[in-house]
Amino acid sequence: MLKLDTLFPRKSLGFFPSPIHKLSRMSDVLGVEIWAKRDDVSSGLAFGGNKIRKLEWLVADAIAKGCDTLVSIGNIQSNHTRQVTAAAAVSGMKSYTIQEVWTEWDDPVYDRVGNILLTRLMGGNPILDGYGYSTCIKNTWEKALEMVRKQGGKPYPIPAGGSDHPLGGLGYANFADEVYLQEQQLGIFFDTIIVATCTGSTQAGMVVGFAAQPKKRRIIGIDTADDVAMTRRAVTKIAYATADLILSKGGKKIDLSESEIEINPNYSGPAYGIPSEKTISAIRMAAELEAMLTDPVYEGKSMAGMCDLCQKKEFPSNHKVLYVHLGGAPALNAYYKAFEDPANLTKLARAARYKET
Ligand SMILES: *Cc1c(COP(=O)(O)O)cnc(C)c1O
Repeated sequence: MLKLDTLFPRKSLGFFPSPIHKLSRMSDVLGVEIWAKRDDVSSGLAFGGNKIRKLEWLVADAIAKGCDTLVSIGNIQSNHTRQVTAAAAVSGMKSYTIQEVWTEWDDPVYDRVGNILLTRLMGGNPILDGYGYSTCIKNTWEKALEMVRKQGGKPYPIPAGGSDHPLGGLGYANFADEVYLQEQQLGIFFDTIIVATCTGSTQAGMVVGFAAQPKKRRIIGIDTADDVAMTRRAVTKIAYATADLILSKGGKKIDLSESEIEINPNYSGPAYGIPSEKTISAIRMAAELEAMLTDPVYEGKSMAGMCDLCQKKEFPSNHKVLYVHLGGAPALNAYYKAFEDPANLTKLARAARYKET
């Protein structure tokens, strides 16, 4: 156990521990015992999601530094900027969020419903500007930081996904302690963890947190950025930085090996934010069998990966698999066309043009 609460300040934003339950009907169909860890329902803040867990540590830092405005960046239908706005609202802070076009999805209400609607509702200030998914620093973001400073505010910069930030990995490193304690209560051990990965700090935090435990397990990140090299760089950088940070604060020394960072590239296509027919059928399956809602950008892809790996007999029959649900269902409303005719998905998407090279 890492016991990060004894090393770093944390502002409570979620209802933790998030629940773990068995997906009985999916387990029957897939022939593997599958459980879900529901980080999608672990927060009272506007439908929650995985960014809440990370933001607990970033917002505590923002408060300690006397900042009054959170400034972040994401896609138009970003779950992250919705959660930053929610965290700002309950902390009595302002927020500005740059909402870029990371995906061109042909839907007339794409920039009006779902996450961006909720962001506006919570008093957020989404600024629709910029193109292209990348974890590098954007000048649109720097412009927003400068604007807050000129207005006399004190901005706290939060990168995309809350990831490439010194404290970005703490939320999911701490998550590993939480899972360990729940396993003790349930009397089980999860051999394999399956999680969607994109900007990287969710998987990176898990890699660090679980590496600190005596019994080894497999963590499979299902890439959703559709750029596995970029995702791998992000996860690796954040994992090593997080382990160093914990050690520098007097915490446990954690030995990492790059071979333990497993990222599966096979379910991310056709592009970031664009579902494939496989994504859509996995979303339908989880909804029909478990009434568990997953989205076309992230969790539908990790769900497609999990179903496919189970069907390919990747896991021994006595294995227990934990699917970590990171949220994202609010985006479903912006994707209704994907469910009308999945054969038309590539026509609906004009994303390739925005891919970073
Ligand atoms: C942000 C997000 C992810 C990816 O997490 P990272 O920490 O960016 O890798 C996965 N699922 C959902 C629903 C998200 O909002």
